Amino acid sequence: MRTTRLPSLLSSRYGPLLVIQSAANLLLAVWLYLEYTHNPFMQAYVSNAWASVWPEITIGISAVIVAAVILAFYGRRHSQSLPARLGSKSKLEDLEEPSNLARLDMCPFCETPLRPISEGRLQCRKCRRYFKSSLPKMAY
Ligand SMILES: [Zn+2]
Repeated sequence: MRTTRLPSLLSSRYGPLLVIQSAANLLLAVWLYLEYTHNPFMQAYVSNAWASVWPEITIGISAVIVAAVILAFYGRRHSQSLPARLGSKSKLEDLEEPSNLARLDMCPFCETPLRPISEGRLQCRKCRRYFKSSLPKMAY
């Protein structure tokens, strides 16, 4: 479910940093591969190291696969128990906050929590719009 926010992360101001980091990692991997193919000492070292660590690596990969299977199974069962399909972002937020009353505490324009000012009056923390606490549910 969190993967739906990845494009916005890539388009944010941290996007270039992520691209640069990925490029640096790729360069390091290529350099390691070239070093491995041209250096017989490193080949011997890698084969020795691999022989000593492969049981741990196998156990780790197995644990990751088991965890992924459990998560996938749980996620599918969780979504099947719900009548609505996981279509849009607002529906996802409905799942995280099941009560419709909680929606009235959110600004419908910038989806920021509202701050209660007085009896029956709320203000958005971000855009400073005022709302009545009996605000009808808006379609957007
Ligand atoms: Zn707002």
